[in-house]
Amino acid sequence: MSHHHHHHHHHNRRQFLTRSIFLPSLICSFSANAESLLDAQAGGARTYDLLIRGGRVIDPSQSLAADVDVAIRQGKIARIAANIAESEAAQVLDARRMIVTPGLVDVHVHVYDGVAPLGIPADPNCIAKGVTTVVDAGSAGAHTFPGFKQYVVRVVDTRVYALLNISVVGQSTFSNGNPFGELLDLRYANPNLTIKMIEQNRDVILGVKIRLSKNVAGENDLRALGLAREAADAVGLPLMVHIGNTYSPLPKILAMLKTGDLVTHCYTGREGGILDERDRVLPDVRRAIENGILLDVGHGVGSFAFRTAEKAFAQGVLPGTISSDLHQGNINGPVYDLATTLSKFLHLGVSLEEVIRRVTANPAKALAFPSGTGSLKVGSIADAAVFELREGPWEMVDSMGEKRPGKWRLRPMATVKAGHIYGNSVVPVYG
Ligand SMILES: [Zn+2]
Repeated sequence: MSHHHHHHHHHNRRQFLTRSIFLPSLICSFSANAESLLDAQAGGARTYDLLIRGGRVIDPSQSLAADVDVAIRQGKIARIAANIAESEAAQVLDARRMIVTPGLVDVHVHVYDGVAPLGIPADPNCIAKGVTTVVDAGSAGAHTFPGFKQYVVRVVDTRVYALLNISVVGQSTFSNGNPFGELLDLRYANPNLTIKMIEQNRDVILGVKIRLSKNVAGENDLRALGLAREAADAVGLPLMVHIGNTYSPLPKILAMLKTGDLVTHCYTGREGGILDERDRVLPDVRRAIENGILLDVGHGVGSFAFRTAEKAFAQGVLPGTISSDLHQGNINGPVYDLATTLSKFLHLGVSLEEVIRRVTANPAKALAFPSGTGSLKVGSIADAAVFELREGPWEMVDSMGEKRPGKWRLRPMATVKAGHIYGNSVVPVYG
């Protein structure tokens, strides 16, 4: 696939170079020194380093959905306006007929590749597909977080944050061959070490994570949740709770949550979900939403059912954030990536603007990312993504193996991080 993209990229680029032989096109084959020399001869530096031109820009953080250009200078968004001249920019990303968004934010992934057995490498699955910022949801606990910071967060191109697992071992015990989770022995749930590790790493850790399924916590779920509650309260950060197939019923779990907490796997088709036996949204779930508890999708290999989402949507219960729960068990289906997950919500009737809001502005409100995350406001760090909205038909599959006919599909075409184009973009780049 990357080979194909590579080829495609060069094909497009060659077309542009042969079609438009003018000064900016020639400059790209010279060295950086020659470029600045030419600029000097031309009578001054260009105003912008990069121009994302001709796309439909959707940025819910500033209620923007319009055909405008995005100009970037020194890694920051410098200007958003219609018809910014190409001659003002050193490099142009041609986004005509494309959707341009802030770099997407996925609040539930597993990228502790090599330590948590289900972990995946972040870059080919996240930033290469339009997701510039991710939150690893509990792959690391207090004992394994220093390694996560050193060998993942500091090394990869994707901006990686974490929710620290209340179990000191994180998700290192759990694999398909050893499906026994981190809270089966409650002695591994250690609020003191969790609090200490968070206090030392507030730049990376944005909250506490706990998984409550029977194969992770057994009958310990409510006691473990109490310990996670204690840690989250002590550091003043939100708690993300993984539901579905729990020993205790959901209302007992929700009763322990507070404003700002997140419930992930909200459309699970398993026992312990948000619907009662007659497919009505539980009153406890409505109360939780009224109290400012956020529903997060966390699609995953077993945690997103079209049926549950359809029933909930019909009763007005939409998610606060849309996340993928990407890990080894689902990158080859049914999740694939965040863009595919978003396409499923387009099918469910959510507008493109409201889908994008749930992976940009809403995550930025839910967790304490640096300001400007999930936004293209002037002055923000210039993280952006370019997508094609391709018309189907294509077959979508959920975690239960149920299929739906998709009409629209978002396809990642290019990613910009801090003003630099990441990897081999599929859309033409020239300059
Ligand atoms: Zn997960």
